[in-house]
Amino acid sequence: MDTYKLGLDFALELDKKDDLAKYRQQFYIPKDTNGNDLIYMTGNSLGLQPKSTKKHIDQELEDWANLGVEGHFKAKNPWLHYHEFLTKQMADIVGAKPIEVIVMNTLTVNLHLMMVSFYKPSKTRYKILIESDAFPSDRFAVESQLQHHGFSPKEGIILWKPKQGETLLAYEDLEEILKNQSNEIALILIGGVNYYTGQYFDLKRITELGHTHGCLVGFDCAHGAGNVKLNLHNSGADFAIWCSYKYLNSGPGSLAGCFVHERHANRKDLNRFTGWWSHNKTTRFNMRDEFDQLPGAEGWQLSNPPILSMAAIKASLDIFNEVGMDALVEKSKKLTGYLEFLLNALGENVVKIITPRNSNERGCQLSIQVINADKKLHHKLTEAGVVTDWREPDVIRCAPVPLYNSFKDVYNLVERLKDVL
Ligand SMILES: *Cc1c(COP(=O)(O)O)cnc(C)c1O
Repeated sequence: MDTYKLGLDFALELDKKDDLAKYRQQFYIPKDTNGNDLIYMTGNSLGLQPKSTKKHIDQELEDWANLGVEGHFKAKNPWLHYHEFLTKQMADIVGAKPIEVIVMNTLTVNLHLMMVSFYKPSKTRYKILIESDAFPSDRFAVESQLQHHGFSPKEGIILWKPKQGETLLAYEDLEEILKNQSNEIALILIGGVNYYTGQYFDLKRITELGHTHGCLVGFDCAHGAGNVKLNLHNSGADFAIWCSYKYLNSGPGSLAGCFVHERHANRKDLNRFTGWWSHNKTTRFNMRDEFDQLPGAEGWQLSNPPILSMAAIKASLDIFNEVGMDALVEKSKKLTGYLEFLLNALGENVVKIITPRNSNERGCQLSIQVINADKKLHHKLTEAGVVTDWREPDVIRCAPVPLYNSFKDVYNLVERLKDVL
């Protein structure tokens, strides 16, 4: 348990002792009209741009200009293999083996591709279990899959809900659902870190529970990748997906990640949608008719990928690799713990933190319920140079990101919140 003190001096002292403080300079921090750094607390929505991103993209633009199609083989980073340059680093971030990870498409596309393979409904066992506060897009994707298979989206979704009057989900309630209804459930799909409450679930526990009851289990890790140590391989999950533009700082709409557990690496019996990029690399360009599936997560690729977007991902992964998830999570816990401490000092009748209090059950995000607040408060905070995210009816999501946010940022955030309250 860290002990914290009030006052700016203490924040500055923490920054001084922070080994990762230097990384802030490697990012562009958005500024106000006077040129002062904004207090950017929305790295959970769109991560900031590393200063090295431009260099990485420029390299590919230059090779394209100079080499044209030859760049596939002769570029400094030959395009034909570019996705492979990302695999090991991305696998390290999510705690997976390289064969289990591929960077491709965007998140929702990957979710659909995964459901093509791992949502295998029968007449009686066709339902999909999701958390009640699932990200709307995931819910839409699930509904459309149900519909695609001829089932009613309304009857096909089972919700894991918080207890009456609570916001966080309890495992005993999931156990109860599975005990009573598992023979109807084909797939469990949970957000590894819930986007709204910031609750970080025990992926292994959910997976084991699901598998015991004969369900397949997948996770949407959009809010987990680069934020918490997901240990995807050890979780045993069948699949996972995540985007790269939130904590992974790879640029708006950049490519997504996809994990398929090693035990499925060589399965030919799974349904899947394929393209030439899921075909054996050594014979891909022979342009013969016979399909020869690549093993591992690579075998779910469809197309030759957008190199410029991958270059932005490479820039970011290099930073993550240098820092490592251990150091990152260590700072994250301190930084978020400090925010929690300062918010607690405001008093429960002013703000209430809905994110779990146990630092092992959350990442860096705190979702704060401001008592008697409305959107005007958020507007005032924005005017005061604080970038946070507002969710109706009364929740502010703040994500102090350990790579580029400082303890001083957190201090200033709470000072300005106090001012506008
Ligand atoms: C951000 C986010 C998405 C966004 O999906 P895209 O396909 O990248 O637009 C989906 N699901 C969750 C849980 C998210 O947090």
